[in-house]
Amino acid sequence: MYVSDVLVIGGGIAGLSVAARLSAEAIVTVLEGESAPGYHASGRSVAFAHYGLGNEPVRNLTALSMAELAAHGSVHPALHIAAEGEIAALDGLEDIHRQYGCDYTRIGPDEARALMPALKPEACAAALVDHGSLKLDTHAMLQAHVATIRANRGALLPGERVTLIGHERGRWVAVRADGTRHGAAVLVNAAGAWADEVARMAGVTPVGLEPRRRTVISFAAPEGEDVSRWPFTKTAGEGFYLLPEGRSQLLASSMDQTPSAPCDAAPEELDIAIAADRVEQATTLPIRRISHSWAGLRSFAPDELPVIGEAAGAPGFFWCAGQGGAGFQTAPALSRIAAAAVMGQPFPEDAAAAGLSLEAFSPARLGA
Ligand SMILES: Cc1cc2nc3c(=O)[nH]c(=O)nc-3n(C[C@H](O)[C@H](O)[C@H](O)COP(=O)(O)OP(=O)(O)OC[C@H]3O[C@@H](n4cnc5c(N)ncnc54)[C@H](O)[C@@H]3O)c2cc1C
Repeated sequence: MYVSDVLVIGGGIAGLSVAARLSAEAIVTVLEGESAPGYHASGRSVAFAHYGLGNEPVRNLTALSMAELAAHGSVHPALHIAAEGEIAALDGLEDIHRQYGCDYTRIGPDEARALMPALKPEACAAALVDHGSLKLDTHAMLQAHVATIRANRGALLPGERVTLIGHERGRWVAVRADGTRHGAAVLVNAAGAWADEVARMAGVTPVGLEPRRRTVISFAAPEGEDVSRWPFTKTAGEGFYLLPEGRSQLLASSMDQTPSAPCDAAPEELDIAIAADRVEQATTLPIRRISHSWAGLRSFAPDELPVIGEAAGAPGFFWCAGQGGAGFQTAPALSRIAAAAVMGQPFPEDAAAAGLSLEAFSPARLGA
């Protein structure tokens, strides 16, 4: 058996960020089922950090993460647009941006169109620009964590899908299909959409995670137009978001969230069509051809808060799951909270000052 201090199951942003923190104080082994880290949700995000999503604790985690995220991000404005019937939602967003001290401006439709020239008049009666949002380099984030783990004598082992978990002589033992065994006193469950499945394997009560599929389409920008400075544009109500990918491509999503079993998610024709239709309804962009599309799973606990902390009745089994649609933008703060919980250290002071607590994230709140 290969023995470490801590085993982390899952080589996405959740597992790698907490493993990197823990590796400063412990020998950590990350077991990833796929042949490379970030194959599932973490390789499929649109890599943006902003305050226009999530509930209050998620926004607090975002606020606590922004400074660290800046190392792997570049400032890129977010434009929140509201049609006539969505002004109240935009007002709510403005309150949030004010509360977090964001550098934002409330603007009218003409100024919004100056920033995003493809907007149709009926799509935007009012808007808000957040000047401090970040476009993230998520690949660099993942690789930086891998480098830290390795520099601290830890390991990321791809191609190590765990199929069985036992507990013997004070150690959790994770077993691969070929019988290879990895043991450690502490096991961190960062298996994303599969986190409930991993808990069941270990005889731990699942928390009721719901993976939800989200679809992204990519299409060519108008001929000759450099769109790289167009803002990340998001409707205040249901609708879509749109953002540039380099100078000549645009990404869009209808913000679909279809419940799904854990799987290698693939885009469905209908979701692709809905995303394209919503963009065409609200903008003058003709989508002649979808260059590329993908889907990924965003996994939520029933109350849509992350699940961090030790499982009741299973000493050494820690959850780090349920990051939903904000796994990258909350990773710096959430990995600090998770690492402190694993090491038995006090809850981080800045997180407590922001009104967060380990109890709020603990699996116990979900009966697990
Ligand atoms: C379309 C889309 C857009 C998004 N955009 C953003 C965004 O702009 N900003 C943002 O912050 N977030 C965004 N997100 C959310 C973000 O991607 C997720 O919150 C985050 O990636 C979740 O990370 P994770 O490590 O928990 O999951 P994953 O990346 O899925 O990692 C879990 C890993 O566990 C492994 N695993 C599972 N079971 C086992 C096993 N038995 N043995 C070994 N390994 C196992 C899997 O192979 C997988 O690699 C987006 C998500 C999607 C789908």
